[in-house]
Amino acid sequence: MTVVLPAVPSGIVEEIAAFGRFAAARGWVPATAGNFSCRIDERFAAVTRSGIDKGAIGPDDIAVVAIGDSVPGGTSAETPLHLARYRTDPAIGAIFHVHTVASTVLSRLDEAAGAVCTDGFEMHKAIGLRTHASLVEIPVFANDQDTERLAAAVEMRLGRDAPVPGFLLAGHGLYAWGATAAEARRHVEALEFLLACHLEERRLR
Ligand SMILES: [Zn+2]
Repeated sequence: MTVVLPAVPSGIVEEIAAFGRFAAARGWVPATAGNFSCRIDERFAAVTRSGIDKGAIGPDDIAVVAIGDSVPGGTSAETPLHLARYRTDPAIGAIFHVHTVASTVLSRLDEAAGAVCTDGFEMHKAIGLRTHASLVEIPVFANDQDTERLAAAVEMRLGRDAPVPGFLLAGHGLYAWGATAAEARRHVEALEFLLACHLEERRLR
């Protein structure tokens, strides 16, 4: 049976494009790196195509993908990681992935430990904790070019109620999500801020 794909709603195009401009302006998506998606409904998601300039995303740069289906050609190679998150947690409405310096460096340093840990930051409150007096473990996964296998490893560890709205791929970058594009952006910003502070502290120590 052929699945008829819906068009990408213009509001979703603008939400993804706006995050792309935001991330590009901060140097978080160098050399066409990164990928972004938004859930359209329970069956479909809109995902950025591969190799596009994330600072200048237009309607043709975004593909509609069935969440429960295999990944069509032309979409980002990391699309399986997005679809697996949407399948596991129905509350997720948007997922943004960036290649920042702090996430790339720290995920390498703490790959063996399996997590980057931060403690005592006021910014913890932006990812759902009630107080700065808390410990946050941002999970780290070994990078893998087989992104279906990588997605399975991520879902096995995170499950439906991930303690932190994001994870790291070693030597690669940061994934974060939220119920809406605005919340996903806030979580990317908060996690990136925590990682940047943590990296700075380790350099000074
Ligand atoms: Zn990537």
